[in-house]
Amino acid sequence: MQKPLCGAPPFLSKTQIIIDDIPTPESLGLQNDGALLRQRGSREKGLDLLDNFLNLRGEYYTKEMSSPVTAYESCSRISPYLAFGLISLREVFQITQLRIDTIKNLPRGQKGKLPSAMRSFSGRLRWHCHFIQKFEDQPSIEFSNMHFMYDGIRENDFNNDYFVAWKNGQTGYPMIDASMRALRKHGWINFRMRAMLVSFASYHLWLHWPKVAIFLASQFTDYEPGIHYSQIQMQSGTTGINSIRIYNPIKQGVDNDPDGEFIYHWIPELANMPKEFIHMPWKNPEYLNGYPLPIVDEKVARKNAADKIYSVRKSMGHMLESNIIVQKHGSRKSPFKSNVAVKKKDNNQGELPL
Ligand SMILES: Cc1cc2nc3c(=O)[nH]c(=O)nc-3n(C[C@H](O)[C@H](O)[C@H](O)COP(=O)(O)OP(=O)(O)OC[C@H]3O[C@@H](n4cnc5c(N)ncnc54)[C@H](O)[C@@H]3O)c2cc1C
Repeated sequence: MQKPLCGAPPFLSKTQIIIDDIPTPESLGLQNDGALLRQRGSREKGLDLLDNFLNLRGEYYTKEMSSPVTAYESCSRISPYLAFGLISLREVFQITQLRIDTIKNLPRGQKGKLPSAMRSFSGRLRWHCHFIQKFEDQPSIEFSNMHFMYDGIRENDFNNDYFVAWKNGQTGYPMIDASMRALRKHGWINFRMRAMLVSFASYHLWLHWPKVAIFLASQFTDYEPGIHYSQIQMQSGTTGINSIRIYNPIKQGVDNDPDGEFIYHWIPELANMPKEFIHMPWKNPEYLNGYPLPIVDEKVARKNAADKIYSVRKSMGHMLESNIIVQKHGSRKSPFKSNVAVKKKDNNQGELPL
């Protein structure tokens, strides 16, 4: 990352290619995906976003990244530009480093929250490469559970009705549905809501992850298989080395959208729902206005999922395989203790990647 950036070639030789008409989505039989707010491409846009994140928008990044109310503005939003190769990770890392050095020299009173925001951001740039390296080392995680002892636990239980409700933002859990609807319009949602969407699909709905992964990949403008498949497996509990995290969609709503601002925006059916019921609208069915009742009982579904996943985790041989996975994929920076689920936490963003 410290190496000089490769310069642009001084000269490009002319190519002699006859280009046919570029096909339109319609000519390929593709439907308009309706993502009207999707980010637009160009190298300049990517660099502009980075610049105004580092110099203007980013100060409260650490605190504001978890809520979808603030994350659209407070996160850098450079991921699609990285994924398409319009800007390079090394370039972003070096520009960020320069900003960190400038902040170090600011008078104490002017630093505000900038030092911790920049630390968190720079750390995530490292995660980017860490995850991509895992995929490089083991591309089979696109298709198979990272830890083989999870094979067979979900595969035969795939409930297509649940899958359709989840994809369409019709599960009856407002934070899940608002997040899905926002994702489908923007082509982007923040980390915490991505994790919650996958956790809900994998645990509460007990859906095996590959179809979930492909659907989300088709929505994310920043789809990057290296990060995506590692994260999908982490949030589905199939790596065997990360702690199990089953997000409660009601608590996520209360914590990250306390006034229901995000939910009211994305679920117009609930426009007349009094605020005190916005995270549990089924308790006031009179105002549902066509919004569905929950497709599963949160507590029951969570308990069933936890029982099943922990029964694998506690079974014979699990630890042995986990240790092999840690050896293969674990960061060489921090030493591990036997069959370790990660203990360190990074504020809002869940656990550090192993
Ligand atoms: C289920 C799931 C799937 C995901 N799939 C993708 C994907 O396909 N492509 C993708 O770029 N990110 C993915 N992420 C990680 C993360 O959500 C996005 O990188 C982030 O939301 C992008 O927005 P940003 O550029 O504003 O990020 P910022 O918070 O501003 O971070 C800057 C950059 O750091 C990197 N980064 C941030 N968070 C992570 C993380 N947790 N792991 C690895 N790198 C990170 C990204 O390159 C990001 O662009 C996924 C997360 C989950 C939970």
